[in-house]
Order: sequence, then C-alpha cells, then structure tokens
Amino acid sequence: MEYLAGPLSALIGELEKLPTIGPKTAARLAFYILSAPAEEAQALCRAILDVKDKVRFCSRCFSLTEDDPCAICRDPRRDGSKLCVVAEAKDVYAIERTASFRGRYHVLGGLISPMEGVGVDKLHIAELVQRVPAEGIQEVIVATNPNAEGESTALYVARILAPLAVTVTRLAYGLPIGGELDYADEVTLSRALEGRRPLS
Ligand SMILES: [Zn+2]
Repeated sequence: MEYLAGPLSALIGELEKLPTIGPKTAARLAFYILSAPAEEAQALCRAILDVKDKVRFCSRCFSLTEDDPCAICRDPRRDGSKLCVVAEAKDVYAIERTASFRGRYHVLGGLISPMEGVGVDKLHIAELVQRVPAEGIQEVIVATNPNAEGESTALYVARILAPLAVTVTRLAYGLPIGGELDYADEVTLSRALEGRRPLS
C-alpha cells in the first residue's frame, strides 16, 4: 500500500486485525475516520483506551464491569434465588438482551477443554460452589454452548453441585424460530423432540 499516505495505511492495517473486518471494510472504515470530524475520531480513541483501562472482572460473578461488584450483582431487584452459569462475559449480554431472565450470573471464564489444556482449575467453578449455599441459590441454569465442551462442562457443573440443595437445569435445545424443519440437522431435530413440552 505504498500509494497510500503512511498513517492511512497504518490505520487500515490496524483495523484489518479486527475480527470479521477484511481489507475492503478496513479501507472503507479508515477513509470514513479520515473524513469524520476530529471530535468523532477522538471519541473513538478514548472509548478504545477506556475499555482497556477501566473494564475489569466483577469479583462476585466474573462478568465485565467498571465498578466492582457489577451492576447486576448490586441490583436488589434481581432474583437472587436463580443463577445463570455461562462460559464468557459476552454470553451475559446475549441473555440480558432477551429480557427474559431476572436472576444473576456466574461467568466460568471458558469451558472445560482437554484439547486446549483448559481444566477445571482454570475456570471459576470453586467460586460457583461457594456462591450457591452462601447466596441461598435455589436454581442454577447452565447456559453453556450446545457443543462437546459446553456439554461436558454442564455435566461437570451438575455433578459438582449435586450434593448441594439446588436444582440444576440446562437450556432447552430446539429449532431456530422462523426456521424450517427440513433444514434442521438431525442432532438439533432429535434434541428438539426430546425437549418437547405439553401444548396448553
Ligand atoms: Zn457481578
């Protein structure tokens, strides 16, 4: 990219490192930033630096927060009897977007994966075992991905919580809303059959 001004090609190079951003999109974004008002570019820089400086893990649920404990852990309107266990902090935002869950969260910080050398000791499982009796939690909803790692982590969590007086549930598997039966793969369709509910 010798034909581009040095700083412009450096910006394109940085943007290209971002996930889902290819060379064309990186160039489009870089030219947009170049033509945008200086304040807009400064706000973008500041937002990027702030996430690196100010965002940390909540010491209670291990979600991402500016203040510790996080807003969800502090919120007295949350149902403290229900705890949703997720792999990553981004899963908290996915579930929050549904507005269907009013309990609190526990972020494991990954999934058990012998292939990638992630064992139980690398995840926040010991903290989960402490939270359940300490907070009087009655239901733990395991919301890990429906893949091999998500499944084995869910089974491990269920097993380790079994001696405690708590109900452990797992997200239902099913067909995507708006999808069509004959497009669903066999595993999804058979899990959807297993998870059927009475119509009433
Ligand atoms: Zn928290």
